[in-house]
Amino acid sequence: MTMNSQGRPSAPAGGETAAPQTFTGNRALMIEEPLLFEIGQTDNCGVDLPEAPQVKDRLGGLKRKATAGLPALSEPEAMRHYVRLSQKNYAIDSGLYPLGSCTMKHNPRLNEKMARLPGFADVHPLQPASTVQGAIELIDRLADWLKELTGMAAVAMSPKAGAHGELCGMMAIKAALEARGEGGKRTVVLVPESAHGTNPATAALLRYSVKAIPARRDGTVDPASVKELLDETVAGIMLTNPNTCGLFERDIIAIADAVHEAGAYFYCDGANFNAIVGKARPGDLGIDAMHINLHKTFSTPHGGGGPGAGPVVLSEALAPFAPLPIIAMDKSSRPGESLLAFAETAGELAGSAARPFGRLTAFHGQMGMFVRALAYMLSHGSDGMRQASEDAVLNANYVRARLADVMSLPFGNRPCMHEVLFDDTFLKDTGVTTLDFAKAMIDEGYHPMTMYFPLVVHGAMLIEPTESESKASLDLFIATMRDLVMDARAGNTQRFSGAPYHAPRRRLDETRAARAPRLVYTPPEPVGEAAE
Ligand SMILES: *Cc1c(COP(=O)(O)O)cnc(C)c1O
Repeated sequence: MTMNSQGRPSAPAGGETAAPQTFTGNRALMIEEPLLFEIGQTDNCGVDLPEAPQVKDRLGGLKRKATAGLPALSEPEAMRHYVRLSQKNYAIDSGLYPLGSCTMKHNPRLNEKMARLPGFADVHPLQPASTVQGAIELIDRLADWLKELTGMAAVAMSPKAGAHGELCGMMAIKAALEARGEGGKRTVVLVPESAHGTNPATAALLRYSVKAIPARRDGTVDPASVKELLDETVAGIMLTNPNTCGLFERDIIAIADAVHEAGAYFYCDGANFNAIVGKARPGDLGIDAMHINLHKTFSTPHGGGGPGAGPVVLSEALAPFAPLPIIAMDKSSRPGESLLAFAETAGELAGSAARPFGRLTAFHGQMGMFVRALAYMLSHGSDGMRQASEDAVLNANYVRARLADVMSLPFGNRPCMHEVLFDDTFLKDTGVTTLDFAKAMIDEGYHPMTMYFPLVVHGAMLIEPTESESKASLDLFIATMRDLVMDARAGNTQRFSGAPYHAPRRRLDETRAARAPRLVYTPPEPVGEAAE
């Protein structure tokens, strides 16, 4: 295959099919897209600028001697480049996106309509509070809903994603321990083996040492193993529920009790809240802090590094340590005016029990995500949200039940929560790996499920269909998966080992891409010089 100067194939995929090569390299309306650097000309300009006036150079010899080498394009060229790239994107708006743990569910268009209302879309964080009362009230209302749904005392709204929420919750725990004078001696955080990587990373960032809790044979955490690890050096536990194997941690209350008895705090990773909204309240389970991924549970769009929002609900014990800003009545408002405002300093909260650990981010959080999440909540109502959770669990169990005879379930054929976890036992002796299987799904028009996570399961395949999918959509997905399994078993390894055949790019060296990313464009050697 011919490669360009960046080591990427310069011809589109599809050589193996009988279709003739095209002159342009395009395949019908799938247009081959080079890098901006490969299309742009450094001496081009997208706008007509007047000739620069001759002025005395005041840069003290720092004037650039060569061009910056940035590609310049006209507006239509730049626009087409990005539109073509966007058309190569797979999205929840294009089809089923069964990426486990990520809850890629439909974002109702009503959310988008609300988020685009000028009063929300054009709001500026430095506007005087008196001009953005509606926006502040919306944040306050959303905060109330989050407290109601979780049964918790307080919520910090500003964290910008789940991982950021973990940091926020663990900083509140750290602050609470320091306030008790135990900050120095409690240096360990317990994290189950099956946890998302952000959990140990968060603990490590706060300079805690991480101790792994082994999983029980059924994929859940045994309170006895937690008790064994608990002592006066433990600051807290970080537990996900439902856990990343798609199973409800049924001993969560016993675990919470043991953690509290040992003087530690209980952080819950709430990324899987979608399975239990309206069914169970984290506040009733003994949790002290939990982030909520609004972009998962409450449907706001995510993926590809898009905006998220990770509010953190806090128990009575941790509530005083919530970070600034905190929404409060504006003390300067005139009688009868009762304005809302953000308390930006601990001083403004004087007289209250608040001892904020500081602030986590500039401003107040992701306004657009707040609007979408509240629109989702209000349009569904409490009964609708409960039904969404029930349907998410039902859909996952439907997939489990219909695939259990051909794929392998590491913890037995028992009901799961909102996602179903398979391992690669069913691929034994086929020569097909989890990765090959996932790549063959791409050829079939499906975004692969989450693979090789959680790590406690060999060759993990974590499928989360979400409640957004219809039965017809699930049936087609299940039929596709069964067809792939049959082909793998029948020894048709070619379908897998070379996959994806039909994607704009074939199999990439993902390890090298992650370990040695090429982030700087190097222009190709001029042909003449290369020959010498
Ligand atoms: C998604 C997820 C996170 C991290 O959330 P982000 O919003 O991506 O930062 C943490 N834990 C689990 C279990 C998750 O699924």
